[in-house]
Amino acid sequence: MSTKYVFVTGGVASSLGKGIIASSLAKLLQSRGYRVANQKLDPYINIDPGTLNPYEHGECYVTDDGAETDLDLGHYERFTGCPTSKANNITTGRIYQNVINKERKGDYLGKTVQIVPHITDEIKRNIKLLGSKGEYDVVITEIGGTVGDIESLPFLEAVRQLRWELGEKSVLIHLTLVPFLSAAGELKTKPTQHSVKSLLEIGVQPDILVLRTEHPLSNDLKRKVALFCNVQPEAVVESRDVSTIYEVPVRMEEEKLDKTVLEMLGLPLNSGPDLEQWKQFLYKLNNYREEIQVGLVGKYVELHDAYKSIVESFIHAGAVNDCKVNIHWIHSEELTEENAEEVLKNLHGILVAPGFGHRGITGKLAAIRYARTRNIPFFGICLGMQMAVIEFARNVLHWEGADSTEISSKTKYPVIDLMNDQKEVTEKGGTMRLGAYKCELKEGSKAWEAYGQKIIEERHRHRYEFNNRFKAQFEAAGMITTGINPETGLTEIIEIPEHKWFVGTQFHPEYKSSVARPHPLFVAFVKACLS
Ligand code: GLN
Repeated sequence: MSTKYVFVTGGVASSLGKGIIASSLAKLLQSRGYRVANQKLDPYINIDPGTLNPYEHGECYVTDDGAETDLDLGHYERFTGCPTSKANNITTGRIYQNVINKERKGDYLGKTVQIVPHITDEIKRNIKLLGSKGEYDVVITEIGGTVGDIESLPFLEAVRQLRWELGEKSVLIHLTLVPFLSAAGELKTKPTQHSVKSLLEIGVQPDILVLRTEHPLSNDLKRKVALFCNVQPEAVVESRDVSTIYEVPVRMEEEKLDKTVLEMLGLPLNSGPDLEQWKQFLYKLNNYREEIQVGLVGKYVELHDAYKSIVESFIHAGAVNDCKVNIHWIHSEELTEENAEEVLKNLHGILVAPGFGHRGITGKLAAIRYARTRNIPFFGICLGMQMAVIEFARNVLHWEGADSTEISSKTKYPVIDLMNDQKEVTEKGGTMRLGAYKCELKEGSKAWEAYGQKIIEERHRHRYEFNNRFKAQFEAAGMITTGINPETGLTEIIEIPEHKWFVGTQFHPEYKSSVARPHPLFVAFVKACLS
């Protein structure tokens, strides 16, 4: 079967949840037996979001093949369980870079290189690339930004051309907002009509409209929107606010979004969708028996999107444990040795987050010391693990000034240091240790218990590493390496066996947690918090 394409665009406002709609549709089609891939096109000029400050764009999500991508790819993986790759996230920067590289090679044979057709051709090539391998029945491509933005124009133009070329092999879903004006007591459809008009001006007619709303939409309203926007009334889909994003696939099924899409693409409905496991997860999410309080210590806590995958991992791990994990956001720059007791005293567990640079380091160290000395479950991820090593070096081994060379390049005890292959690196983009690496677990360790297997594979995003030169001294004092990269010998996990649950990972487990497979370390950490 040749691949069919679904495009998802947005209008009226940003943050309406295109990524969640795209992920939900993927889930529904997958549950009807289709092989589906999600893709995101981002209209900014950065080659990838790896160089973006989390305040700008939230978390940077890392794939198995080491691509630094948009956080929507995290939703795709968490909903469908299918790994994504570099091909699933394309930015304007990447498109232009490819075109300019080709121009320098002389590939355009003396032609004037232009947005149309050269940039749009490159966009189309990247959209079709996922489908070209025959691995997917449906590719769902989400266009970042909002209709009317200057930046998204070349992407929409490429979609216009591609839809023309693909004929009945494509469907376009446009997501808009229907605001409720309380003074008038009415839902307003005019912004949707205008948004569709903007699309029509550039030659793109949506097939399905998904209307985000706080209140139920009447059939009359749906009919009105259908009439003004040239779509079938059954192709006007209500997307009402829900308490969790994980409800959305179920709501979209009720609204028959999957059925409408398949019919438009000329594909059989098959049986299903089989949402049994998904609904069980939802049931557990809404019917928990216990609650725990977990402190998340980081420097971007005002912006919860900066730690998106961690938050979602706790939702998955909580459901498995029949409990709700309440996250307490603790700003590492506001935490000190003096106020640690006051701030942390009611927590059942503490997670110290990943990060870069020296800001907030003392707060992170104070949180770790508190967790270590009070036997409170501790989970350190990447920088959080590195900080646990530093705290141990300073307060247990009494190595004054022990540090990471990222923070203090002249420290006498560089317990976290750059490996040789990173020392020569000067460019920032895409040069860290990125993507999936194997790790061998030590039998009997907490990590080994959690995973229930010896060899695991987890994703990385960092430059610095535990300095194995000091390993023997750490182990003699009670902090041991329980995960090792079998090829390089690098330390990937540290633990304090004497402690109730004290685990630090150099990798990022949060990137691999999904509804179908909650991450074993998050599940074990939550269990430890409950006990
Ligand atoms: N800054 C640290 C490093 O580069 C940790 C990175 C992270 O937490 N992702 O090694």
